[in-house]
Amino acid sequence: MSKQFEPAYLKLHRSGELRGRVAEAYRRLERCTVCARECGVNRRESAKGAACRTGERAVVSSYAPHFGEESPLVGRDGSGTIFFSWCNLRCQYCQNYEISQLGHGQEVEPENLAAMMLRLQVMGCHNINLVSPSHVVPQILAGLLIAVEAGLRLPLVYNTGGYDNLETLKMLDGVVDIYMPDMKYADEAMAQRYSKVKNYPAVNQAAVKEMHRQVGDLVMDEHGVALRGLLVRHLILPEGLAGTREIVRFLAEEISPNTYLNVMDQYRPCYKADDLPPLDRRITREEYNEAVQMALDAGLTRLDKREPRLIWLFR
Ligand code: SF4
Repeated sequence: MSKQFEPAYLKLHRSGELRGRVAEAYRRLERCTVCARECGVNRRESAKGAACRTGERAVVSSYAPHFGEESPLVGRDGSGTIFFSWCNLRCQYCQNYEISQLGHGQEVEPENLAAMMLRLQVMGCHNINLVSPSHVVPQILAGLLIAVEAGLRLPLVYNTGGYDNLETLKMLDGVVDIYMPDMKYADEAMAQRYSKVKNYPAVNQAAVKEMHRQVGDLVMDEHGVALRGLLVRHLILPEGLAGTREIVRFLAEEISPNTYLNVMDQYRPCYKADDLPPLDRRITREEYNEAVQMALDAGLTRLDKREPRLIWLFR
């Protein structure tokens, strides 16, 4: 990583504002509007009524260097992932449902989160990759404050399902360097049916606009490692359920034709997908190629370059 690089949160910390953001974020837990569900429950007292089933403490399932993420995050030494348990989405086909829907993991204090961040830095990771952070932003900020004071210097990756509250995102302005949102659906009814959320496309598109306003297009160092910017993930679902055409049009026309996009081919039926055709099958090579072509036709040229999976060779 470039020697001149400084993560955004250092400036915020020097000004004293990072501490203020922590306090402000914890206030939002009291009638919770941390994510776009806006449940309005007091998570400082209990997790009762919280759609994310998370109370005052975050739950973490694991943390480790990860080499399966996009190459600008992985670089040579890996992306420092912290997997948060529970989720504000209810994707009926989730590949990590034991973590996201069954809550496997351990409750942690901010001090524990800070220790994880610092450990990942010592291990040589290029970034701290916060996986499913939307419902635990206050806890992340509290952990970050402790970690910064102990020497954290890596950029933060906000790796989200994309159902984020705009006001919460504004609290992350100057904190997060790399936003990595999913854009899962372009159709409200699909989002309701398959992820049990209302109004996903409007919430998601407003969130992606705010993220891009804060950090711009993805910028990498001389080794191709991401420093700052927006990286969008779009998982192709069978029979065009993910609304690829509308999503790539939105990115090209309303965000930037230089948006870095990962068109993801790895859908496989998990959790309840076997009972929800057409989600009960993988995508075909034709469906994937068609989605990539839609992105190119829309004018997007920065597509993640990983090879399509080998699954097709065995079909
Ligand atoms: S974080 Fe989201 S899902 Fe969880 S209680 Fe708050 S508003 Fe509800």
